[in-house]
Amino acid sequence: MRIVVTGGAGFLGSHLCDKLIELDHQVICIDNLLTGNPFNIAHLQNSPDFEFVQADASDSFPQDLDFDAICHLASPASPNKNNPKSYQALPFETMQVNSFGTWNLCSEALARGAKFLFASTSEVYGDPLEHPQKEDYKGNVSTTGPRAVYDEAKRFGETIVSAFAYSGRLDGRIVRIFNTYGPRMDSDGRVVIEFVNAALQNKPFPVFGDGTQTRSFCFVSDLIEGIIAAMEKGHSGEVYNLGNPDEFTILELAEKVKQLTNASSVVSFVQDMPQDDPTRRCPDITKARTILGWEPKVSLEEGLKKLVVYLQTIEKPWV
Ligand code: NAD
Ligand code: UDP
Repeated sequence: MRIVVTGGAGFLGSHLCDKLIELDHQVICIDNLLTGNPFNIAHLQNSPDFEFVQADASDSFPQDLDFDAICHLASPASPNKNNPKSYQALPFETMQVNSFGTWNLCSEALARGAKFLFASTSEVYGDPLEHPQKEDYKGNVSTTGPRAVYDEAKRFGETIVSAFAYSGRLDGRIVRIFNTYGPRMDSDGRVVIEFVNAALQNKPFPVFGDGTQTRSFCFVSDLIEGIIAAMEKGHSGEVYNLGNPDEFTILELAEKVKQLTNASSVVSFVQDMPQDDPTRRCPDITKARTILGWEPKVSLEEGLKKLVVYLQTIEKPWV
């Protein structure tokens, strides 16, 4: 198949491009490099199965661009307001690519009879009042808070895909991605990369709030397999949670990173919990297990080890 990956120069998108090419597909990567990095796809530039187009995913495609599927991953993804690549620092870009962008890409897919996959997020559940989160939980989300530009744009993006799919014409599905980590993560303020970077420099782990909030961390290779399973086996109009259901407090994450790296780092309580920061998050993946035959295989410890090795060996020509 010929598959368009928007956001293909980003963390998840570049791993998706790799896997699709490994599976003998052809990939057209569309990315405006807003938060991504050419380094993530440099190794693919000479592949006959890979094409990079530096463009905004919200723009219309040339009429002669033909393809069989779109995976729409383009969007800023970090909530950390102190980081220039976060969605709080890029509010209009974030709203645009998840709303107009999704609408436009659904139209482009529909016009070619192509499949569509939208990368949504566990953030659509907000600060959840149900735990763990199932796909039918409707969420506890602010329309105006600091995370709203992302959460509500993703929710509207889901509504757009649903409308195109329910009209019976678009073969479109939605994946709700829970916190994912691994090699090629940008240092964009997300907790795993912040803590691993801190440990590798023996600096304190910067904890927000009291560190008892929870997250469930999925290693990137597992997540990519989930995306491909959703594209291949997922049903049109359906939503699938993709994430690792092993849940950890942020303090437990710090402890694990410390043990794995033998760092002398200590926890530092640097600020209050940010407004609307979810107090707990854990996916119920029964639907993905049953319908997609997918579940994660990599434990947090194994995944963190791989990330540490990557960070210790990688050359960063862009720094
Ligand atoms: P990332 O920032 O590494 O990648 C996003 C990519 O999209 C970047 O390469 C960026 O340049 C590109 N992009 C942004 N706006 C664009 C536009 N208008 N046109 C073209 N390209 C554009 O982030 P990521 O972690 O790889 O996230 C990828 C997707 O997965 C996002 O949609 C994000 O919301 C979703 N997601 C990620 C996680 C996670 O834990 N990584 C969790 C939930 C959802
Ligand atoms: N967090 C933290 N220190 C950091 C970055 C994040 O304690 O340097 C906390 C953050 O408040 C949140 C959790 O870690 O409760 C996960 O944050 P992240 O930015 O990775 O993504 P989120 O899951 O909130 O989208």
